[in-house]
Parts: sequence; C-alpha cells; structure tokens
Amino acid sequence: MTPFDVIILGAGAAGLMCAQTAGHRGRKVLVLDHANKPGKKILLSGGGRCNFTHRHATPSYYLSHNPHFAISALKRYSALDFERLVQKHQIPYHEKTLGQLFCDRSSQDILNLLLKECEAARVNIQLNTHLISIQKLNPSSTAQHFILDTSQGRFSATSLVIATGGLSFPTMGASPLGYHLAEQFAIPIYPIKAALVPLTLHTHDLERFAPLSGLSLEVIASCNGQSFCDALLFTHRGLSGPAILQISSYWEPGDILTLNFLPQLDLLSYLKAQKHTRPKASLKTLLSERLPARLAELLCSDPKPISDWRDTALSQLAQQLQKFEIKPNGTEGYRTAEVTLGGIDTQAISSKTFESFSTPHLYFIGEVLDVTGHLGGFNFQWAWSSGVCCGQVV
Ligand SMILES: Cc1cc2nc3c(=O)[nH]c(=O)nc-3n(C[C@H](O)[C@H](O)[C@H](O)COP(=O)(O)OP(=O)(O)OC[C@H]3O[C@@H](n4cnc5c(N)ncnc54)[C@H](O)[C@@H]3O)c2cc1C
Repeated sequence: MTPFDVIILGAGAAGLMCAQTAGHRGRKVLVLDHANKPGKKILLSGGGRCNFTHRHATPSYYLSHNPHFAISALKRYSALDFERLVQKHQIPYHEKTLGQLFCDRSSQDILNLLLKECEAARVNIQLNTHLISIQKLNPSSTAQHFILDTSQGRFSATSLVIATGGLSFPTMGASPLGYHLAEQFAIPIYPIKAALVPLTLHTHDLERFAPLSGLSLEVIASCNGQSFCDALLFTHRGLSGPAILQISSYWEPGDILTLNFLPQLDLLSYLKAQKHTRPKASLKTLLSERLPARLAELLCSDPKPISDWRDTALSQLAQQLQKFEIKPNGTEGYRTAEVTLGGIDTQAISSKTFESFSTPHLYFIGEVLDVTGHLGGFNFQWAWSSGVCCGQVV
C-alpha cells in the first residue's frame, strides 16, 4: 500500500487545481477518479470554449445558506489570479459579455493547463478507479489517517479531499459520492436540486408556444425577488437561454415566472405616442417592429388600427407583454443542469482551509459544497478558489 500525503477524490476542476497547488508545495498527491478521462465537464463547458472565470466574481454572485463562506477563498485566489495563470500558459482568451472570460480556441486549453501544472508538480492521477470504502484510522495512531479500498487496490493518506462535484450531467461522471461520504462522517447536507437548468412547461403552454420553438429574444425574467436581463429561448420542452438558466436557481416548484418581453421600452408610453402619430397602424404591425414577428403575432394578432384601442386596453396589453406570467411545471433536471444547488453545509467546514470541523484532515471543495454560482464563469472560479485554498494547507 503506497502512502500519500494527500488523496483527492475527483479529477475535475476543483480536484486538479487543489492537486497542483499541493503538489507544488512538495506534497505527495494522488487524484482518483472513476471516469476514463479527467476534467470531462471542463471540456463540455462554455459551449466548448470554457467560460473559465468572471472578472467580477464576488460572493454576491453565489447562492449559499451561508453567504459569507465564499468571501475568504474568493479573495485569496481571485479571478485575476486565474487569469494570470491562463496568461502564463499563453492561452488565447477574450471577454465575451461583461466580465465573462472564454477561451478563443477550446476548453481543452484549460484542461491542458491543469494537467501540465499537475505533471510539473508530480501529481499522480489514477482514472477508472471506483471507490469501495473509506476508513479513518485513529488520528493518534502513527499510521496514515485514511485508508481507501478501491477497484485498483488500497491507498492511504494523511489528508483526504472530496472534490466529486454535484449531480448534474450524469453522463459526464457525476455521482452522489461526495454527499454519501459526508453522511458517512456525519457532516450535514442541505437538500440538493438541479440549477442553471431549462424550465419545462405544462402541455397547454407548450401547445400555445409551439410556433415559437427556436425563437430567442432578450427578456427580463423575474421570480422570488430576483431578476435577470438576458436571452430567453423557446424550446420544444419549455424555456431555456441564459435568463431562464439564471432564474431557475431561484425558482421553486409552483412559483410563477414573470417575463418582460420588451425590457428596453416603456411600452404603454410608446403605444400612446404611436396612437397619435400613426393612428392607422395596427397593433400587430407596431409590436412586430419591436418584437420578433412570431411572438407579436401570438400575443396580439388583432388587425384593428391602434386608434380603435382605448388607453385602458393598451395599458392591459402593455402589462401583459411586460409582466407576462407563466407557471413552469418543472425543470429538465440533472440531465441538462449546469450545476447542483445545495450540498455540504458550509457551517461544518472551515472557510479558510476547507477542512471539516468534526473530522480533522477531511476536506470538501468545489461544487459538492453548498455554494452555487450564477451563470458566467462563477462556478469555475469557485472550483479554482476553493481548490487552491485547500491545496495550500493539505
Ligand atoms: C454542460 C456544462 C457546462 C458548464 N459550463 C460552465 C462554464 O462555462 N463556466 C463555469 O464557471 N461553470 C460551468 N459549468 C459548471 C462547472 O463545470 C462546475 O461547477 C465545475 O466543474 C465544478 O467543479 P468540481 O471540481 O467541483 O466538479 P467536477 O468538475 O464535476 O468534477 C468532479 C469529478 O469527480 C469525479 N467523480 C464523481 N463521482 C465520483 C466517484 N464516485 N468516484 C470517483 N470520482 C468521481 C467526476 O468524474 C469528476 O471528474 C458547466 C457545467 C456543465 C454541466
């Protein structure tokens, strides 16, 4: 049995970052993963171009029952620190939408960066390895603290880092192992659910919106006191696009979603002005000038000239288009979700070292924790920040 200083479960974003940090400190590190390749989600991310960080990654962009938990790590290893690492590896990148940094070429560049750093730090990565059991020995004994029995044999280490991520995209190797291990060591967990995920609609709404499938437009999506202005995409299952993925993290079953289809316009004032200047124009025509024609047609196909519309009716129409209410019937679930909301209760974990308070030498990092970022590079930044801060102490 080869003894290691550190064993990291999960060769994803957080695990590899932690591994290279600890390895560069001279620690003997083993990373175990059941998948046949490391960093599968990295390769898939950002539509193949990995939105690897967000320049304004501050705790306010993260959901957690303990909103202060992320402060320390995000400060100690910031978006700028990761950007400098990307520059060190001469990876071409660009800022897409305000603050969101993407690779110019492909996500493979980010995975190569991590693997090169791990290689330079002499990190041992063992794939296709299935965990059978973990035992923690009495810390007062001189033996290694953790014994891992796996499909590839027995390993031991002083420190054990759980970086097994969440449940989203099971086809990419996601599993509930991290949550099961938390249970084994009596570490509390918040309920988990799919987030940054498309919302599905009841059959009657699906039938109504069927002609819009494939249509994308800018909206403000609001729910539970949160609003996001971004693109909405009508799909054959329901609603998707960045605005919907963002609001899905705040949406609970049974909640009504409010959509503003004309976020940049005071529609009522606009319609009243048009009534004076173009009284013969039909509402359908006027709306088609501001909205995709298919949506305008669906929401108001009345051919009457605007002069025939009373102001109260115009007000109702404006309300309908700018405070459009719809009740989704669910989400597409972990199959297409980008992240898992909830997870390991961070009150049980040190925000400086990521060590469990109740089980010394046991650490949790990355998405398995109850820290979930908005869309836009925030989730990778959390993986980098938590991975580095943990790697500095294990
Ligand atoms: C399609 C998609 C696109 C995304 N795009 C972006 C983006 O552009 N920007 C962004 O910031 N975030 C993005 N994310 C989210 C981001 O990928 C995750 O938040 C991030 O990868 C979490 O890092 P992690 O290391 O905690 O977990 P992961 O990267 O998921 O790594 C977990 C690792 O643990 C391994 N593992 C799991 N179970 C076991 C087990 N039982 N035994 C052994 N090993 C196990 C897995 O194989 C995996 O390698 C995206 C997610 C998805 C699904």
